[in-house]
Amino acid sequence: MSHVMNTYARLPVTFSHGQGSRITDTEGKEYLDALSGIAVSTLGHAHPKLVAAIAAQAGRMLHTSNLYRIREQELLADKLAEISGMQEIFFSNSGAEANEAAIKLARFYGHKKGIETPTIIVMEKAFHGRTMATLSATGNRKAQAGFEPLVSGFVRVPYDDLDAIKSVAEHNKNVVAVMLEMIQGEGGIHLASIEYQKGLRQFCDEQGWLLICDEVQCGMGRTGKWFGFEHAGVQPDIVTLAKGLGSGVPIGACLARGPAAGLFGPGNHGSTFGGNPLVATAALTTLETIEQDGLLANAERIGALIRQLFAESLAGERGVLDIRGHGLMIGLELDRPCGELVGQALAAGLLINVTADQVVRFLPPLIFSENEAKELVDRVTPLIKDFLAA
Ligand SMILES: *Cc1c(COP(=O)(O)O)cnc(C)c1O
Repeated sequence: MSHVMNTYARLPVTFSHGQGSRITDTEGKEYLDALSGIAVSTLGHAHPKLVAAIAAQAGRMLHTSNLYRIREQELLADKLAEISGMQEIFFSNSGAEANEAAIKLARFYGHKKGIETPTIIVMEKAFHGRTMATLSATGNRKAQAGFEPLVSGFVRVPYDDLDAIKSVAEHNKNVVAVMLEMIQGEGGIHLASIEYQKGLRQFCDEQGWLLICDEVQCGMGRTGKWFGFEHAGVQPDIVTLAKGLGSGVPIGACLARGPAAGLFGPGNHGSTFGGNPLVATAALTTLETIEQDGLLANAERIGALIRQLFAESLAGERGVLDIRGHGLMIGLELDRPCGELVGQALAAGLLINVTADQVVRFLPPLIFSENEAKELVDRVTPLIKDFLAA
């Protein structure tokens, strides 16, 4: 019996090492990684630039404290501000913690405006994390069950429905922010329409609300742009990041601008590890490598290729309801629950995932090549056809 707490339904495999988009288990079997540890391994496995940067930083200094200035953290903040249009950044160790910072910031903003019980509008099918506040913001009753009382101060509306938000505004005068994923990840790769995103930005401006974009999964170049919100050309007031930010090193970030910037002072928030020299170096190297190696364009091109190849290989399969996504954030929705495909793919040497019961999800590293894309489609297609025929 393992002494590890049973919080995941773990597959019976242990990996020992990887290279690029391939990963090898302890028996020596090789797998094509089309999941990246759930959108984490941006640069794939053992990327030489990242390995060298981490080793060099470990040789200099791993950790100091946020009681002091941290040069690597400041450089990373500069770079993130430059690519995002945001002004100031708080560093955390995970996505949930980045969202905790965002929620605290929105509440603080409300209190400064004299709203004593600030409310944040959140979405059905949203995923924001597993801490108490982020679990409360998450739109999945199963994840919340057994952990009540939940944190108050959230109102839930259907995704991609601006009228639902406007009707909340009519009777709730305590709203201070709207929090959402522009592309829902765990919820099943759902894309909010461009008109909705633009309309939401405008409505938040009219109401004096903050627009909070949880980019933990769809950010960091995954969709072919640095951030998911760029597809609609909207600028949020708060953005949260984690997953792909450190390409496997745990780091999260909460970015603020405009009305959300300049609110926190010393003592309002903190994190012992947040943005330490090691993780900040890993994230900065990840960002620089995405830029130098043209990985945004690669994500867009290879993602479009994967969707197109699946559309061809699965044409006429009535059990396939939709093939959707942006860049390398791809969902293939079937007409029935298909969790068993994950184990079948594993046996066939492929790492994929199923989310929201019936959406096959692909989140390959941003270095994924054209040949790897073709191989993925060639090898996954028969699994799906057999599954649907069974
Ligand atoms: C994974 C995820 C989180 C939670 O991140 P953790 O690092 O697991 O805490 C939050 N929001 C979104 C959109 C995610 O996909």
